[in-house]
Amino acid sequence: MIKTNTILQDTFGRVHTYLRISLIERCNLRCTYCMPEEGVQLSPKNKLMSYEEVYDIAKTFVDNGVTKIRLTGGEPLIRKDFPVILEKLASLPIELSITSNAVIIDKHINVLKSNGVKNINISLDSLDREKFKHITRRDNFEKVYNNILLLVKEGFNVKVNAVLMKDFNDNEIIDFIEFTKDLPISFRFIEFMPFDGNKWDASKMVSYKEIMDCVNTAFSKDKIERLQDAPNDTAKNYKIKGYKGSFAIISSVTNPFCDSCNRLRLTANGQLKNCLFSAKESDLLTTLRQGKSIEPIIQKAVQGKLKMRGGMNTIEKLQNPQLHTKNRSMTAIGG
Ligand code: SAM
Ligand code: SF4
Repeated sequence: MIKTNTILQDTFGRVHTYLRISLIERCNLRCTYCMPEEGVQLSPKNKLMSYEEVYDIAKTFVDNGVTKIRLTGGEPLIRKDFPVILEKLASLPIELSITSNAVIIDKHINVLKSNGVKNINISLDSLDREKFKHITRRDNFEKVYNNILLLVKEGFNVKVNAVLMKDFNDNEIIDFIEFTKDLPISFRFIEFMPFDGNKWDASKMVSYKEIMDCVNTAFSKDKIERLQDAPNDTAKNYKIKGYKGSFAIISSVTNPFCDSCNRLRLTANGQLKNCLFSAKESDLLTTLRQGKSIEPIIQKAVQGKLKMRGGMNTIEKLQNPQLHTKNRSMTAIGG
């Protein structure tokens, strides 16, 4: 039964109904903006959530008002018990979705369908095979590209995410938009964000404004339609009139959307993060394993959520490596 006096409301009145669960720290790609080439320091196996623990923690959140869960990672599909986790979570009254790099998603179509997953986010940072190889440090372009087409054919709602980097893939903005001409996908440009180990530098980032300048140069004003964003949407949505798909910009750096944030994050080793940018974590797994209630820890973590980007409320603070390198790398947070 959902409680009305929710422990998921923070001191700014934001009610958190969306939980992103990272199932795994490992990944079958090595995207340069996400993790270092050598990978990241992994948690010992006995410190990672089992599928039962994922379910127990998720259920506590759902009992307290969470209505939406997204499974992410690392790469969630390389976890051997992914189908079991999906099936267990699908028994909860939630909208269940996943974020994946799509390298092996063709093997999971049936299990995704049978467990009611409709919304799938896929990463694709270039439409050029060599560039894809360079950024992911793996040669999987065809697989990912064909799997995106397969997901669309199979009737999933597909969003494709690209992190734009100056002088690398920023010359593909219009190609990415053209990709939405005949495909009913939402193509989302994500501003490059700073995390531990990704050598962030503001000069590498392509901003919302720069993306829109490029779009405005390529298309006449009357062809560009601003769409209504969904409540709590992190993206500003647009469409080129007549195209089957749409495009959007996620501007966490230059235009943060913290005021309407409804998200919490659970890492694969059972730590609750109240914000993507917060270095602070609350250990739910240890308490769960002690057989105690995790609700007081969740409540305290939510109450401690800062107004904006984990306290990095200016670009200057975000740019300060002493602040952003205290956080994990993105692959260990679960983007
Ligand atoms: N492996 C899956 C994937 O790539 O979609 C799920 C995990 S990945 C960490 C989730 C999302 O985080 C991806 O869309 C990725 O592009 C994004 N991401 C990773 N590092 C980022 C960064 N430094 N800035 C912006 N987005 C980032
Ligand atoms: Fe893996 Fe996703 Fe990170 Fe790329 S963005 S290294 S696919 S977790």
